[in-house]
Amino acid sequence: MSAKARVVVVGGGFAGLETAFTLRQRLGEKAKLALVADRADFLFTPNTVYLPFGGREDRLHIPLNRPLARRDIAFYPGAPRDLDADGRTLTLTDGTRLPYDHLVLATGAAMRPQEVPGLAEHAHAVWTPGQLHALGTRFQQLRSDALSGYRRRVLFLVPPNNKCSGPLYEIAFMLDTWLRKAGCRDTVRISWATCEDGYLQAFGPRLHQVVAAEFADRRIDGHTGLAVDKISAGEAAFTNGELHGFDLLVAFPPYAASVCYPGLPADDRGFLTLEPATRRVVGHPEIHAPGDAGDFPVKQAFLAFLQADAAADDIAAALAPKAVPRPRRFTPTSMCVMEMYDKATFAQVPLRQTGDAAHPVSIDESAPGDYRVGVSPLWRLGKAALGIYLPLQFRAGRPFHGGRAWTGMQVALDGMSRALASGATVPVPAPAPDDAGRGVDL
Ligand SMILES: Cc1cc2nc3c(=O)[nH]c(=O)nc-3n(C[C@H](O)[C@H](O)[C@H](O)COP(=O)(O)OP(=O)(O)OC[C@H]3O[C@@H](n4cnc5c(N)ncnc54)[C@H](O)[C@@H]3O)c2cc1C
Repeated sequence: MSAKARVVVVGGGFAGLETAFTLRQRLGEKAKLALVADRADFLFTPNTVYLPFGGREDRLHIPLNRPLARRDIAFYPGAPRDLDADGRTLTLTDGTRLPYDHLVLATGAAMRPQEVPGLAEHAHAVWTPGQLHALGTRFQQLRSDALSGYRRRVLFLVPPNNKCSGPLYEIAFMLDTWLRKAGCRDTVRISWATCEDGYLQAFGPRLHQVVAAEFADRRIDGHTGLAVDKISAGEAAFTNGELHGFDLLVAFPPYAASVCYPGLPADDRGFLTLEPATRRVVGHPEIHAPGDAGDFPVKQAFLAFLQADAAADDIAAALAPKAVPRPRRFTPTSMCVMEMYDKATFAQVPLRQTGDAAHPVSIDESAPGDYRVGVSPLWRLGKAALGIYLPLQFRAGRPFHGGRAWTGMQVALDGMSRALASGATVPVPAPAPDDAGRGVDL
């Protein structure tokens, strides 16, 4: 048996890489690190929203081999087949057995379009690069039809149990700007229907107000509190009896865990039940699950990083207490920049879990100065800077939150968010998503 502690990380996304690189930074050669993933590259999802408008995909993929080799992290391509939590051994689909002292499950989330009858058949989903390219083909056709004078209707839809609708808002705003620049916006009717009681409800009343004002300005016909019931060709039916027609339907489907781990505690969508501060799986102090795989109700890359930092510090503190005297704990502050092509919206939102399944998060009012929302063309620079910074860090095998480069980014973002924040508030009640269904079993 090796004298070094063995840490196995499953997942090569935001949470998996951040955990692995932080552990190497914290522990040096004190631990043997291995990473398992079913794909050999990292995908920078936040910038996949440019793909429907002709953005290049190749820059969004970062091959894992070099950064992992640079940090002496062994790579196992493949997927877990069996987890023996008592025997602390993970077995992969090809039969490889990986004994561990600490295990990190960062396998993210998957889509469940089939939960809404007709969604898979009639909607363009926003999830993979392939789907976003296919949407781009439809947008080209839409623009060409509109330029020829044909009236078209585009409906954007957020169904119940979607956990990250921000990218869909970005695409709607970008489509509006893109069509206006082409001179054919007037012949396209853009509508929006969300099951939530406010736009991007988890991010509170200020972001709702900003989005509502943008929708009004851009003549996007927005509807809140509309839960979809079923979709048929050209028509979405809602539970309140309303019908909305469309020529093109764009939706971000319901979420479930990408992998279900039998024997570990999880909710009815397969999201692992965790200790809030450390991201340990409840009852399994040697297993952590940062990122979308865990039970935090909002699924976002920035939150995945914060969870990964907490998980990595918790593991490092257990293995080398002197190396991590003050382990970071997960304090959920969300940060997002929404592209609109002519400007962008920024939101920094301190969140609090309520424990109420119907209203799982609310604004943490103990940190009122940290709740900042603003709209400005300058925020497009913020989005571009993050799109350069993060891939640079990961290519070099460094965590997102690490070193002087991050301190510089943080100072710049903090300064911008203070200078460009708007202080407006509007009270908005929280939604009541209902959980059902499970992910793929291991
Ligand atoms: C179009 C789009 C735009 C987005 N924009 C933003 C944004 O602007 N800002 C933001 O904060 N968030 C954004 N998000 C959300 C963000 O991408 C996720 O929250 C984030 O990827 C979660 O990180 P993760 O590491 O938990 O999971 P993932 O990034 O999904 O990584 C999961 C990893 O596990 C691997 N894996 C999955 N299943 C298996 C298996 N069975 N075996 C082995 N490996 C497996 C995957 O290959 C992957 O490497 C966006 C999402 C989408 C779809």
